[in-house]
Amino acid sequence: MNPRCVKCGQGVEKLYIQYSPGNIRLLKCSNCKSVADEYIECEVMILIIDLILHKPPAYRHLLFNLLRDKVQNFDALLFKLSIIFLALDAYKLWILNGISVEQSIMIMGLKTFGCALLGNVVFFCVLLVLPRRFLTFVDDFSGYRDVLLVVIVSSYLKLYMLSMLVWELPASVVYIIDLFVMSSNMVALRAITESPFRRCFGLCFGVHALKFFVNWLLK
Ligand SMILES: [Zn+2]
Repeated sequence: MNPRCVKCGQGVEKLYIQYSPGNIRLLKCSNCKSVADEYIECEVMILIIDLILHKPPAYRHLLFNLLRDKVQNFDALLFKLSIIFLALDAYKLWILNGISVEQSIMIMGLKTFGCALLGNVVFFCVLLVLPRRFLTFVDDFSGYRDVLLVVIVSSYLKLYMLSMLVWELPASVVYIIDLFVMSSNMVALRAITESPFRRCFGLCFGVHALKFFVNWLLK
């Protein structure tokens, strides 16, 4: 798969020309005439900051030019990320539901993990079917695995919940993190599609509301 310009999303043949180790020249996109991927020369911290700021070029660099091309074993990475995603969701439910003195920790843990698993099965079943019907994906980026990777990777803000292991933050922080995750999912979906903003927003809001409803029913 060809890399893509991070500004306009157009496919390009090459992102840079390497003259010698450490000596490269970034190439311009023939469509928008800007440098196709300036993140190649940026520090990782710049990329992380731009991702947190929800800048679409940062998402395009991560999804089009970094993960899909550089990762050797795509399925193994997807599996590991899915497990981390599920564990963080279970931890979120654990925080929200609190600890009951009537049940053992083991039973509570299994119940919480089961709720997280079921909520995510519904979440991803809807999320993997609806976008193919309502969104127009860019070429070479419309498979189930691609959408799954995009949603999981763009949910990186869930990691912030681990800070609650150290600091005593109110449980409402979880909802704020969820809102950021939803908006991040929306920007990522917008980056890999040519669909209007309102469709990506409607889809993300709908599936997140559905997951919240399922978790509430199972509580
Ligand atoms: Zn371009």
